[in-house]
Amino acid sequence: MPHVTPTFVIVGASLAGATAASALREDGFDGRVVLIGDEAYRPYERPPLSKEYLRGEKDFNATAVHSADFYDEREIELRTSTVVTSIDPTKRLVALSSGEHVTFDRLLLTTGATPRRLSVPGADLEGVYYLRSVNDADTLRQAVAPSARVVVIGAGWIGAEVAASARQLGAEVAMVELASVPLERVLGREVGAIYRDLHQRHGVDLHVGVGVDTIIGSTTVQGVRLSDGTVLAATVVVVGIGVVPRVELAKEASLAVDNGIVVNEHLATSAPGIFAAGDVANAFHPRYGQRIRLEHWSAALNQGPAAARSMLGHHVVYDRTPYFFSDQYDLGMEYRGWAPDFDQVVLRGDPANGAFLSFWLHHGRVVAAMNANVWDVGDAIETLLWSDRSIDPALLADPHVDLVQLTTSPTN
Ligand code: NAP
Repeated sequence: MPHVTPTFVIVGASLAGATAASALREDGFDGRVVLIGDEAYRPYERPPLSKEYLRGEKDFNATAVHSADFYDEREIELRTSTVVTSIDPTKRLVALSSGEHVTFDRLLLTTGATPRRLSVPGADLEGVYYLRSVNDADTLRQAVAPSARVVVIGAGWIGAEVAASARQLGAEVAMVELASVPLERVLGREVGAIYRDLHQRHGVDLHVGVGVDTIIGSTTVQGVRLSDGTVLAATVVVVGIGVVPRVELAKEASLAVDNGIVVNEHLATSAPGIFAAGDVANAFHPRYGQRIRLEHWSAALNQGPAAARSMLGHHVVYDRTPYFFSDQYDLGMEYRGWAPDFDQVVLRGDPANGAFLSFWLHHGRVVAAMNANVWDVGDAIETLLWSDRSIDPALLADPHVDLVQLTTSPTN
């Protein structure tokens, strides 16, 4: 009997897709690996798109996940500019827009997310931009000249990082946010206020607690009218109001979908042999005892290989601590944990000095922590997060108290 090699198909040539494909080879899989993406580029990382890439400080090669040769060298069939139109879990095949079908033994969906569209009058005018892809970043980079008047709608991660980059490029920038401070949903009011002050110090005209009524212009954008009647002049509008997971293929194939593709702790979907990872996966996290959908770079980076190992039958459990980072002006930070609910925020160090830690507590336990311009504290923070004991806020705030000691000290 000839040995028939299995075919593993990955839909989504993203960071999650690329790291899954390389992990399959690292684990010795010698079957066919087909990595399909609708963009014209080989897989790349998105964090630089709102930062160094947007500012022209990094080129595409520096943001690509692997070198151009990598895929051929490992016999990974990378199919760029290729759209998957449907998947059939029973016949185990994916249909491509070219009319071609690829049969699979295992399938991984890393279809990611797409920007939520702004739906106000004028939202389709020329000069209104979204930022998700390399093409988006290239187009936006052309528009953000020092003479540009940029209005950023949404002070989430895209909004805050684009506002910082646009200021660094010399443009005038206004930012509009419905919440009371930037980044409020993740960081809360207290730490969000630190980012409010940071942006204002760098000359951003910040409008909070207010929505957008209309984008003004005839063919090209000229301004933004806010719901309080304020009119902001604009040559460029950047919309960063969140993303929606790309679940269409999964839904049409009758996979369980609920705020993303539902997967268990092994990143397996409701259909046998089909897995999902990255922004699109709403994954059961054993440490939190519930499903969470993480839109973080680190989830794409680490869930890809975890899903690959599950495809190979190793059934690894994905239980990493959620992690992301952000750089705005001269403030770099890392955030670890997950804090949908918290009842106390503790700061260690003075934000006015530009370096500090902040901790989010729930019922006395540290559920998330951020180190801003303070480095090499990741392991200590991990220990704190999973120590499963109440921490004295006064000791947590005291820079003279060792963080790890807090988790072991009997006096705490
Ligand atoms: P985001 O971080 O979810 O922020 C969206 C912001 O827009 C939120 O403040 C949101 O408020 C606000 N908003 C929602 N609807 C609005 C409306 N109609 N008008 C005005 N504001 C509105 O999403 P994003 O900034 O668009 O980023 C897109 C994705 O890229 C996210 O997954 C993000 O995590 C990721 N990203 C991450 C980084 C990083 O980790 N450093 C950097 C860039 C992008 P509510 O919170 O009240 O809904």
